[in-house]
Order: sequence, then C-alpha cells, then structure tokens
Amino acid sequence: MQEIRYELTKTPKKKPAPGDPLPFGTIFTDHMFMMDYTEGKGWHDPRIVPYAPLQLDPAAIVLHYAQESFEGMKAYRTKDGTIQLFRPEKNAARFRSTHERMCMPPVPEEDFVTAVKALVKVEKDWVPSQPGESLYIRPFCIATEPHLGVKASNTYYFIIICCPVAAYYPTGLNPVKIYVEDKYVRAAPGGTGYIKCGGNYAASLISQEIAESLGYSQTLWLDGVERKYVEEVGSMNCFFKIDGTIYTAPTVGTVLPGITRMSCIELLKKWGYKVSEERLAITDVMKAAREGKLEEVFGTGTAAVISPVGELRYEDEVAVINNGKIGEVTQRLYDTLTGIQWGLLPDDMGWTTKVC
Ligand SMILES: *Cc1c(COP(=O)(O)O)cnc(C)c1O
Repeated sequence: MQEIRYELTKTPKKKPAPGDPLPFGTIFTDHMFMMDYTEGKGWHDPRIVPYAPLQLDPAAIVLHYAQESFEGMKAYRTKDGTIQLFRPEKNAARFRSTHERMCMPPVPEEDFVTAVKALVKVEKDWVPSQPGESLYIRPFCIATEPHLGVKASNTYYFIIICCPVAAYYPTGLNPVKIYVEDKYVRAAPGGTGYIKCGGNYAASLISQEIAESLGYSQTLWLDGVERKYVEEVGSMNCFFKIDGTIYTAPTVGTVLPGITRMSCIELLKKWGYKVSEERLAITDVMKAAREGKLEEVFGTGTAAVISPVGELRYEDEVAVINNGKIGEVTQRLYDTLTGIQWGLLPDDMGWTTKVC
C-alpha cells in the first residue's frame, strides 16, 4: 500500500462524555479511511479524511446489484489506557474470502490491518473507557462504477468508519428469546451465506420483523435445503449444550465463519469440553429440551460477544432453557473473552494486537 495521506478535521465533533448513552451504530467518529481501486491501476490513494457523506453516481453498481462487502470488529481500551484489537488478521482473511466470492479485488491482508490500525490511532480518544464499551469498526467495500448492467465493477471504494458503542448488555447478560424460522431461508449451498455481504441481511429482514411481531428478539435460521438443521441466530453463530456436549453448525458454505465462534471453540476444547461441529436437527434440540437435556444455548458475535438464549420457539412449541437464566459455560466464555479483549485477563492465546 502507498503511504497513507492524512487530512485531519479542523472542526472535531464533541465526543460523548463518560456515561453518555452510545446507541449501537449511531454515533460516528471524526474521520474515515478511504482507498480507491481502479482496474489496471489497483488500490491507490489511501487516506484518512474527515467523516463525510460520499459522492456516488446514481448508476453505481453497488446501488443496483449489491456488489458490496463488509467486516465488523472492535478496538478495546485496556485498564492501563492502551488500545488493542482482537484477532484483526482473521477479519482481514475473511474480507479476502468475501471479495473472492463477490468478484471484488482483494485488499491485501497486511494493508487491511494497517488501515484499521492507522484509523484507530487517529481516533484513539474516541475509544470509550467505561466497562464493556468499545470502538466498533466497520470496514467495507462498494462497487462504484456507473453501469446499469450486471457485471463486476471496475472501480471500488474501500472505506473504514468507526462508532463508539456501549456495553451490549448494560444490565448484565440477559437471555434473549429466539424465534426459529421455518419458512424463509438465509442461505443455501452455493450461495453467499459464508461471507459478509449486505444482501444477506436485506433478505433476512422479513424474518426479523416476524420474530419481533411475535415478541422474539431474533431469528434462528435453519438450513436452506430441508429447513431441518440449525445454522445461525441473526448476525451470530449459535451453540447448543446438550447432555454435556457442545454443538455448533459446521461452517461448510451456508454459515458465517465467526471469529467469536472460532475463539469459543478453541477455548472450549482447551477447557476439555467435547465440541461437535456435526449438523444438529432442530427436532433434536426440541426433543432434548423436553427431556431436560438442553442445558445451554448461546449466540456468538463481535457486537454482543456472547448472547445467552433463554427461550426458543419452533412451530407451536416453546422450549425454555435453563429456566431462562444464563448457563455456566456461557458465562465462562463471556468472562474469558471479554477479559482478554479488555485486557483484564492475560492473553495466553495471543489473540490481541496493540494499536497504541
Ligand atoms: C459477522 C457475523 C457473525 C459473527 O462473526 P464474528 O466474526 O464473530 O463477529 C455471525 N453470523 C453472521 C451472519 C455474521 O454476519
């Protein structure tokens, strides 16, 4: 990557004060990273510039055919004031795999990490300091060529923006109620379920609305072929503890390979738990619940870290998990991951990268 050009704002915004509410994804920092791609020239003109609206041709391919990619990660302020990232090289690698599937030019993995670090360094005073707070980082790429015809664009923007965000569960880890979707599907074999692209989410909104109308906070997706096997919860991977064994869906093309998922599996194995990445039928989950063997259910993802599930509804049956309370393994994973991320526990897994 060429050297990053810095054009810093002369009119910085007022930063939220410690303790101010930080509704997720609504407050943006002063700057953004941007880099252009032009066919024949490659990625060029990396820059950190004041956060501002984009100018886009109304015919830009992203607006019509959704050629787009994104990532989600966080910067954490540790108790001694340093700022660190959690496994950023994994986000860089996943971004590359998303770009392959979307016929977008790869952003070299070192450049991705360098750009994230450079922006976080500029915005270091925006990384909030209250317990559980962090700076959410959203790298994304859009197809900018004006062309009303389905093809891969020959120009792109790679952009990174950041938002200070509050603890996901300000009042402690509250188990959520989940609706099992048995009609719509999120992903099918050969599709884009294993990458982070906006289109996956546009297609999932309808189920989210149904879940909410029934009093559930998120959707649990089943596989797209038989609507039989559990896959993911909303924007999280999902784990089930049944009779001592911990199950999570295999990442074989329809499930997003979450970095939190991967980290949980590594921790669980280190702690001696049996982890199964075999497919698990929803009917077996409900049967285990009836037999009192469904011990814990939780979602994993960067935003919430770990989200305990207290209730599942599938067709007309409702399963209450662990009396609607957080389970022991769920709590241990949450404490360990957040402990490493915020520097409260030693990082004996080598997962954190210091920014400044
Ligand atoms: C981002 C995402 C996840 C979680 O991935 P993490 O790397 O753990 O944040 C899970 N499922 C979907 C559909 C996602 O988009």
